[in-house]
Amino acid sequence: MKIISYNDIEVHMIRSTNNPLEIMRTALDITQKRDFMDQAGGVSAKTIQAVMKMNHGSVFEHVSYSFLILGASRSFLAQITRHRISSFTSGSQHYQDYRDYGCSVDESLIGNETMAESLEACAKTYVRMVDSGIPKYEARQVLPNAMQNNLLWTVNARSLVNFLNLRLCHRNTNEIMIVAGKILHLVKRHFSELFDVVGPDCFMRGGCAQGKMSCGRPWEGA
Ligand SMILES: Cc1cc2nc3c(=O)[nH]c(=O)nc-3n(C[C@H](O)[C@H](O)[C@H](O)COP(=O)(O)OP(=O)(O)OC[C@H]3O[C@@H](n4cnc5c(N)ncnc54)[C@H](O)[C@@H]3O)c2cc1C
Repeated sequence: MKIISYNDIEVHMIRSTNNPLEIMRTALDITQKRDFMDQAGGVSAKTIQAVMKMNHGSVFEHVSYSFLILGASRSFLAQITRHRISSFTSGSQHYQDYRDYGCSVDESLIGNETMAESLEACAKTYVRMVDSGIPKYEARQVLPNAMQNNLLWTVNARSLVNFLNLRLCHRNTNEIMIVAGKILHLVKRHFSELFDVVGPDCFMRGGCAQGKMSCGRPWEGA
């Protein structure tokens, strides 16, 4: 069985809105001008950031992204699917045969024998069950949380800001923080005017709201 570290999870941005500043210009102009058609140019970073601070978030919904997230675990799948304002297509444990699969664990557990033995034991049990005629969709109950999955995630920029704000915070597990960091890296290249100012509360809202749970370490960037 191949066991990878969260750092090796692949994130690909396979689709994005062409020229996000153009659609932002139309969205912002339509609110303010009757002659909004055929206005030239985009929108400045200053305007984009001011609109975000004002919480006029619906205009950002016209920009959207599709990401392929390859190799993150089933625990990650449970976490990311809590972000309801987005769309998901995941590998199916109902239909796919997982007699051979990989796992994703924290860097500190790469080479850990107890972890490797337990994951191998789950895989062997699954093979035994499927080979004995138990349907894959029942045998899957013995598959581990660490099992890798492939996911297609489509999300608009407004919801992505919310996701990154919540999931770049140190209070999260390393896996979702690492994936969020990879996503931030990609969207900064596509729409820097917005995503350059996105991060956890300590970065984008000037303070932490976690009270006693606060990590006390301001975000250092992804
Ligand atoms: C550090 C951390 C720890 C967490 N721990 C737990 C945990 O222990 N247990 C647990 O169950 N979850 C946990 N969560 C998940 C968390 O509670 C949210 O479900 C998750 O972060 C998705 O956030 P969201 O609802 O803002 O996103 P989305 O579902 O994408 O929603 C976006 C926004 O839309 C609005 N919205 C969406 N649906 C509704 C609705 N039904 N009613 C009203 N408004 C809505 C809200 O304004 C929401 O912020 C944790 C999250 C984090 C970041």
